[in-house]
Amino acid sequence: MIGAPGRRLVLLGATGSIGTQALDVLVRHPEVARLHGLAVGGTRPDLVADQVLAHRPERVVVSAAGHAAAVEAAVHRACAAAGIPAPRIDVGADAVVELAGCLGPGDVVLNAITGSVGLLPTLAVLASGARLALANKESLVVGGHLVTDAAAPGQILPVDSEHTAIAQALAGVRHDQIDHLVVTASGGPFRGRSRAELAAVTPEQALAHPTWSMGRVITTNSATLVNKALEVIEACFQFDLPEDRVQVVVHPQSIVHSMVTLVDGSTIAQASPPDMRHAIGWALAHPEKLPGLAAPLDFTTAQSWTFEPVDEDTFDAIPLARAAHREGGGAMAVYNAVNEEAVDAFFAGDLDFLGITALIRRVLESPRRPRALAADGVEGLLAVEGWARTAARDLISSTEG
Ligand code: NAD
Ligand code: MG
Repeated sequence: MIGAPGRRLVLLGATGSIGTQALDVLVRHPEVARLHGLAVGGTRPDLVADQVLAHRPERVVVSAAGHAAAVEAAVHRACAAAGIPAPRIDVGADAVVELAGCLGPGDVVLNAITGSVGLLPTLAVLASGARLALANKESLVVGGHLVTDAAAPGQILPVDSEHTAIAQALAGVRHDQIDHLVVTASGGPFRGRSRAELAAVTPEQALAHPTWSMGRVITTNSATLVNKALEVIEACFQFDLPEDRVQVVVHPQSIVHSMVTLVDGSTIAQASPPDMRHAIGWALAHPEKLPGLAAPLDFTTAQSWTFEPVDEDTFDAIPLARAAHREGGGAMAVYNAVNEEAVDAFFAGDLDFLGITALIRRVLESPRRPRALAADGVEGLLAVEGWARTAARDLISSTEG
């Protein structure tokens, strides 16, 4: 029996890449949970209306007030036409946090919001006792020990193909039997290029990911390798290991999703075709396995899987993140916040591709960085974030002018 009868799901970020794939998993495996509520930014009102008709959630939350009227109108129109009662609709960031925390033990919340704005919802889920299926890696990167300390053992199930793979490889393995983790990376669309060749890269080129179809921020992060850098930190917190025990290897086929090397010299890998529904379904249904969740590998045709080291001289995102993790405190919140600002500036044409990690480095190295603030719990971390965003924007506008 998969999922207890009456098990509820709250889906944060329902209209995104992960959110829509999660609903696809739910359509094919309704036994996993019943959709209780969904939260969205609000830019796709018609999609929200379709989701409401298909899944009949009791609640909808729109985080951006500016989009609320359009979502409300689309949902009410669709429900009236279908002759069903409209769900309750709330608006604003506080309402997202409230929805995140409204379930309890036995239920599950999938946090598939993009960005550090996912931190407060993550903490609300953990306080509620519900399972947290966590796609929003930023909340773990930014919150760090604040998040892991708030979590009961096993309460967070990662929805990131690498971390889902590691969690599966670790089944039956004790923590003291782990030598190190090996996180695989596709290498992104610019694998093999030199720094000179990267200087003129455009947002359109950065959005052409070779193996995965994902949201704009994570796709850009895959091109800069910032995504892999965030995943190294995510792995440190998720699996309680220092950064020097989390290796990264480039594996362009994206079939081996990550590996664990044990103290006896054995390496355990998890492999499947690249399809995020695998990671989503794993986290929602664990410890059950959903039959036919995603297509399996086909070994009747020839294939090669290759592995190569990361070119860290060209792509400096990972060493920068390792240094931020070693420093601890608010350094990782700064790293992530500056990256979020830099990605926006890159798309606005205000920053070139190599400028993204250069900006992260400059802000991390700033003597004015408020290092002590991060000790003041979540408020302190959010203050560090705010400082980093302002510092990043100031640097972007000063180099522009
Ligand atoms: P996306 O941009 O496609 O979707 C983001 C979703 O969040 C949208 O529904 C948007 O409306 C909603 N949203 C934005 N701000 C919100 C807010 N303040 N409150 C509530 N909802 C809000 O992003 P994505 O690619 O689905 O990625 C989501 C998260 O999952 C990211 O943290 C990403 O790193 C992680 N992730 C994604 C993939 C992938 O394959 N897409 C893989 C691994 C991890
Ligand atoms: Mg990943």
